Amino acid sequence: MADTAEHLQNFIHGEFRRVESDGWMDDLNPSDAGDVIARVPHGSADDARAATTAAAAALPAWRALTGPARGEHLHRWAAAISERAEELAQAMAREVGKPIGESRGEVGRCIVILRYYAGEAVRSVGDVIPAGLPGALQYSLREPLGVVALITPWNFPLAIPLWKAAPALAFGNTVVLKPSELSSRVATLLAETSITAGLPRGVFNVILGTGVDVGTPLIEAPEVRGISFTGSAKVGALVAAIAARRNVRYQTEMGGKNVVIVAADADLDAAAALTAAGAMRYAGQKCTATSRVVVDRKIEGDFLDRLRSQVEALPLGPVADATSAVGPLISQRSHDSISAALADSTADRIFGGELPDDERFRRGFYFAPLVIRIADPAARLAQEELFGPVLGVLSADDMEHAIAIANQTRYGLSASLFTHDLRSALHYVQRIEVGLVRVNGDTTGVDPHAPFGGMKGSSSGSREQGPAAREFYTETKTVQINP
Ligand code: NAD
Repeated sequence: MADTAEHLQNFIHGEFRRVESDGWMDDLNPSDAGDVIARVPHGSADDARAATTAAAAALPAWRALTGPARGEHLHRWAAAISERAEELAQAMAREVGKPIGESRGEVGRCIVILRYYAGEAVRSVGDVIPAGLPGALQYSLREPLGVVALITPWNFPLAIPLWKAAPALAFGNTVVLKPSELSSRVATLLAETSITAGLPRGVFNVILGTGVDVGTPLIEAPEVRGISFTGSAKVGALVAAIAARRNVRYQTEMGGKNVVIVAADADLDAAAALTAAGAMRYAGQKCTATSRVVVDRKIEGDFLDRLRSQVEALPLGPVADATSAVGPLISQRSHDSISAALADSTADRIFGGELPDDERFRRGFYFAPLVIRIADPAARLAQEELFGPVLGVLSADDMEHAIAIANQTRYGLSASLFTHDLRSALHYVQRIEVGLVRVNGDTTGVDPHAPFGGMKGSSSGSREQGPAAREFYTETKTVQINP
C-alpha cells in the first residue's frame, strides 16, 4: 500500500529541505493510534551541521539590526500566528492530545509571548557605571550569545519553542530548534508562520529527529554558543554535561513532583477544585501538574469527598470536543511506564483509574484519572515524576510536617498552599523549596512575563521568560572610555 503520510522536512535557511533519513518514525495521534499524522525522520549530524551553518551565516546581519527592527519582526510573527490560530490549535490537539480549549489557549499565549519580547527588544540594554578614573565613561552592554540551540519537549509544542526563540531572537541571537519527535508536525507549522512573518533566512531553523541522532550533534556543533533545554531530568543531565564540557552557556528546565498543601483552615471547595484541575487536566502532562497533595489529617475526609466530586466532574474525552478536560496520554510508552510504576508499588487506590467501557477510549492512549494514598513520602510514587493523571495523597499532622513532606523530593518546580492564615502562608513561602510558589491557587499556569523555572533537581538554576530571559540570551561587556 502506498505510504500517504506526509514525510516532514527540515526548515533550514528559510526553506523546507528534504531529509535523507535512514529511518522514519510514525507521528501518531494519541487520541486514535490508527491515525498516522506524519512521518518524522531520525535525523543526522549532517542535518544539525546544515542548520548551525545557516544560523551562523544569518547571525551578523540579524544582530546588526536595531532592537526596534527585530521587535517588528516578532510583531509580524505574532500576526502570522494569529492568522492561523485555529489551524494551529487543531493541529496541536491532534498531535499531542491536548484538549482543544487548552490548545487554543496555548496559541493565544504564543501571540502574547511574541508581543512581549517585541517590546523587550526596545528596552535599554545596559547601565552606566561610575568609573574610577575622573571624566571616564564606563558602561555595560548586553550582547547576543550567537547561535543558540533549543531542545524542547512535546507537551507545550508551540509555547516552549516560542518562549525560548522569541527572547533569543529579540536580543540578536539566531536559532536552531530541535523539537520533540512527538510534536514535529506542529513545529513544522511554526516554521511556516516564520516564513509568512518574513523572518530573514537562517535566523530561525528547525531540525527534526531523535535526541540521539540530531539533538546531541546539534549541541556539540562548534557554532552553538548557548543551549536552552526543556524536558526530562535524565536527558537534561546529559545536555548539561555536554554544555559544561564545551563551556557553552546552558539552561535545563526539567521535571517536577509538584505539590499542593491543604491546611486545616483551607477553603476546601476551592482547594479540591484547583487540585483536581492541576492534577488531571491535559491528563497531568504539564511540568507543573500537581502530583502530590499533602492534607492536614483533621480535614482529610472532607477534602477527599470534595476532591472526588471535582475529579469526576472533569470530562475525559476526545480532545476535539470543547467540553473535554482530560485527553489521552501522549504515547503507549507513557501508558506502559505509568502502569508499570503503579503495579510495582504498594499504594492504595482511593478512587478513579477505571476507563469507561467505550470504544473511543480503546483507540487512543487514554488513562483514567486516579487518586492514590501514599503512606510513605519517600516511596517511589511520591518521588518519581509519572507525567500522567495520577495524584498521590499524603497525610500531615500540621503545617510544619506538611512543608517537610512537600520538600522531601529531589524536584522543586511548583507548589501551592491552601490556607487563610497569613502567618502560615508567609512561613510556607519562606520554607518551600520550589521556583513557582502559589497560595490558594493551582500549581499550573504562569504569566509569560514572570520568571519561570524550578529549584533543586528541576532546573539548572537560571530562569526563563520575563526579564530573566534577557539574562540567559545575552552576555555582558563592560566598557570604559577614558578622556
Ligand atoms: P525528553 O527529555 O524525553 O525530551 C525532551 C527533548 O530532548 C526532545 O526534543 C528529545 O528529542 C530531546 N533529547 C532526548 N535525548 C537527547 C539527547 N541524548 N541529546 C539531546 N537531546 C535529546 O522529555 P519529553 O518526554 O519530551 O517531555 C516531558 C518532560 O519535560 C517531563 O519531564 C516534563 O516535566 C518536562 N517539562 C519541563 C518543563 C519545565 O519548564 N520545567 C516544561 C515542560 C516539560
